[in-house]
Amino acid sequence: MAQAAWIWWLSGGALAAAGLALLWWSLFRDRARGRRRCPKCWYDMAGVPGLVCPECGRDAKRERRLGRTRRRWPVTIAACLITVAGVGTGAFPKASRDGWLSLIPTTALLVVAPPAGKGYISNTRGMRDLHPIVSELLRRGAQSTLTEWQWAWYIRNKGVVELPDRWPVDTPLQVRMCVPEWVRYGQIQLRTSPDERSECASVGATERESGFGLMSSNGNRRVPISLESPATVSFDVRVVTQGRGSGWVGPLERVLWNGMVSRDIRAVPSAQEMFDILEGPEWDARARDFISPSILITVRSVEQYSSVSGTLVMNRSIESGLKDAAVGFELQLLRAGEVRATATVGMSDCDWYDANAEHPTGLATFHPSSLAAEIAEDLSSWTLRVVGRPELAIEDFRQSQAWTGSFELPLDEIATIDRW
Ligand SMILES: [Zn+2]
Repeated sequence: MAQAAWIWWLSGGALAAAGLALLWWSLFRDRARGRRRCPKCWYDMAGVPGLVCPECGRDAKRERRLGRTRRRWPVTIAACLITVAGVGTGAFPKASRDGWLSLIPTTALLVVAPPAGKGYISNTRGMRDLHPIVSELLRRGAQSTLTEWQWAWYIRNKGVVELPDRWPVDTPLQVRMCVPEWVRYGQIQLRTSPDERSECASVGATERESGFGLMSSNGNRRVPISLESPATVSFDVRVVTQGRGSGWVGPLERVLWNGMVSRDIRAVPSAQEMFDILEGPEWDARARDFISPSILITVRSVEQYSSVSGTLVMNRSIESGLKDAAVGFELQLLRAGEVRATATVGMSDCDWYDANAEHPTGLATFHPSSLAAEIAEDLSSWTLRVVGRPELAIEDFRQSQAWTGSFELPLDEIATIDRW
């Protein structure tokens, strides 16, 4: 293919040139040049008095219209098609080597690229594939070639740094940071001021692995700023890379992009006021449909290896009305009405690639874990209570609603015992 590439370029170039020549011909060749012509049938009206064509009867109404350039639109369309075919032919070697997306400029790819953290799409086998645009950005090494303003646009528009609109007073602010999947190495840092010693939160591209060959990450980070009143918060954001192959040699940090990201954040008195609160018996019943809990009780002969853990599967695809509900729950294990062990589930307890999906799945570990044997002994006397807690939901600030209420389920319906 490489040797034959010039044939494609040459024939594509010739075709495109012919198309452009034809395009010019169809649009500009047949000017009036002082002739008086009917604008409909192009009959030469030299010597014809008035503006009505003796051939077709068209009334040109104004003298100026008799001097129009004749444009041959069908030929124009054909010329455009030939030009496109020529460009396509010339680009064929590159397209067949690197894919058709390789012909699109990087800026255009960035505009249509999925937001950071959403660079995978489910395929028909139930697995995750890289989004084709993300693959293309990786292929062309966008990480090291992006210009200043391309970075600025991407970081401000594609979910790399997300901040809440509202936040409870005196609570360290939480930001959601996500390294785009096409960034292979390095990290994104966020500082409260450009000063190197200022408070910093960061997330690295290698921090969590997707397990599908490409490193990617996202994460919720706390920045120790407590809001007192409505505030515009500005952060100094840096994209830093360590460069290929420098991993063990030392920090050869290079700043790929550095700029400010600002956001107006309204300080509210409590977590309750960050969300539209859903409460009452009806919402409790809906929450029960929305959240599917299961409990795993692991009983080992050595007690310290025993544990009780819970899994909550949130079903955002069913019409429970809790589609926009933030993840923030407390799980309680009760016996005879008494709470014996608790666990919490927030957004950061969800699997990273699932956290934004239809079915975020939260994992929780109960404390104390020493209850495992006791629970396993008489499952039917225990219940699980799921309690909606907005204060645990604040890190899921992209959601607009939070449920506050509770429902209970008997443990023998939802528990599995793993005994050794
Ligand atoms: Zn005419």
